[in-house]
Amino acid sequence: MPLRTAAVIGAGFGGLALAIRLQSAGVQTTLFEARDKPGGRAYVWHDQGFTFDAGPTVITDPTALEELFQLSGRRLSDYVELLQVSPFYRLCWEDGSHFDYANDQATLDAQIATREPRDVQGYRDFLAYSRAVFEHGYLRLGSVPFLNFRSMVQAGPQLARLGAWRSVHDVVARFIRDEHLRQAFSFHSLLVGGNPFETSAIYALIHALEREWGVWFPRGGTGALVQALVRLFQDLGGTLRLDAPVDRIEVEGGQARALRVQGECLAFDQVASNADVVHTYDRLLGHVPEGAREARRLKSKRFSMSLLVVHFGLARPQPQLAHHTVCFGPRYRALIDDIFHGKELAEDFSLYLHAPCVTDPSLAPPGCSSHYVLAPVPHLGQVPLDWSVEGPRLAGRILDYLERRYMPGLRRDLVTQRIFTPADFRDTLGAHLGSAFSLEPVLTQSAWFRPHNRDDAIPNLYIVGAGTHPGAGVPGVVGSAKATARLMLEASP
Ligand SMILES: Cc1cc2nc3c(=O)[nH]c(=O)nc-3n(C[C@H](O)[C@H](O)[C@H](O)COP(=O)(O)OP(=O)(O)OC[C@H]3O[C@@H](n4cnc5c(N)ncnc54)[C@H](O)[C@@H]3O)c2cc1C
Repeated sequence: MPLRTAAVIGAGFGGLALAIRLQSAGVQTTLFEARDKPGGRAYVWHDQGFTFDAGPTVITDPTALEELFQLSGRRLSDYVELLQVSPFYRLCWEDGSHFDYANDQATLDAQIATREPRDVQGYRDFLAYSRAVFEHGYLRLGSVPFLNFRSMVQAGPQLARLGAWRSVHDVVARFIRDEHLRQAFSFHSLLVGGNPFETSAIYALIHALEREWGVWFPRGGTGALVQALVRLFQDLGGTLRLDAPVDRIEVEGGQARALRVQGECLAFDQVASNADVVHTYDRLLGHVPEGAREARRLKSKRFSMSLLVVHFGLARPQPQLAHHTVCFGPRYRALIDDIFHGKELAEDFSLYLHAPCVTDPSLAPPGCSSHYVLAPVPHLGQVPLDWSVEGPRLAGRILDYLERRYMPGLRRDLVTQRIFTPADFRDTLGAHLGSAFSLEPVLTQSAWFRPHNRDDAIPNLYIVGAGTHPGAGVPGVVGSAKATARLMLEASP
């Protein structure tokens, strides 16, 4: 019998994980990536000896990554080394206080007690809640496709018991009194594009997930993890085509039959898209009624915020920094409200600062350090700014702020810098409205309400990545690959 063939469009973490699963199961898989390098949001730039990871830096749930290697009897550690990061994050406020969020109960208790003694027990209760949603929402449902409403109804009672209609912040505030600690334990949903005041409390599971398996960083940067997945896929016999933007998916007799790639027409038995979901339906399938209809429906959905990311290299190490720092600005709720609902760019910001050389100095020339700093900003549909003007302006204000508060001498030591704006998310990654995380993870856009891992109208067309179940974040998209692969492998040839 001839081998089954599959095409995966896009080499983000989701596309790579799916391609590995298919190839491991004996499906002859070709992975098409529009850009010159794989990784998607986890792209890498090299500049004057500095290595800059574009996106994910907080690597959690290493077991989901390990599983991709185990499928073919291999070991992740033979491909890439994961280094433990401690503390997980340092959270800093403008009053000069900070909180080292570490995976050690005694350290956490001591820090919590100095802020609010009653929150020591409150934190334990929150952790117990977070573990319950983690077990149900991640371990049980995180990589199960929600194809029909029945599956949603079945999950309903447990979701109701866990209070899934509440927001992450609501739940944290039920357990914790101190305002800073409320921020420390609710900001996590922003890491997957969710507003802590609106995203379902189910996303409080991220806290338990980090406590369960830790926070990791690949030696050589996240790009080294991407390279490890590429090497695994190729060792298995898979084909990766870079600089290969797919122009359209050809549909015939209600089935996805072929891909148009730079003038070539290539036939496959199954097609999966890891590209942005609106791009997939609008640009790749807009020529058929099923595609155009779904694109219209998706455009009416809520999309996550965007980001301004500034990558910079310094001629000096920064030993005073933790690997991951969250720099809270003067406002929390009001700023988040501006980012998700405002009509203009706020004057203030909160930042995430990456200092990978704290864990792995090889990412910069000797005696130097590489960094990125990001600020969540409204997406282009909400505040349509000219980012060619606003980007450098905001980047300058952010670097000044960092120099004043966290990195003395930053301007003097600046060797190189580059910025990535919402317009770049749109133009380089095909992200609808320049959203950094695809559809916003609110309850009404989660599980069955999210675009399905298998298309409803075209039975051999599949979706993988941040736009489908369970959603954004590396564990999320790797989980989506598991759900999608299962459907593809179960389908009759
Ligand atoms: C700045 C930033 C920081 C983040 N930090 C973290 C973090 O620390 N931890 C974490 O877990 N998550 C983090 N995330 C989220 C996480 O990176 C993403 O949710 C995840 O990587 C998205 O993966 P994906 O599989 O959906 O694909 P994407 O990364 O979106 O990749 C899709 C790929 O499809 C390609 N493509 C698009 N159209 C076509 C076409 N027509 N033909 C061929 N190829 C095409 C694109 O070029 C791209 O390579 C971060 C995200 C950002 C932006």
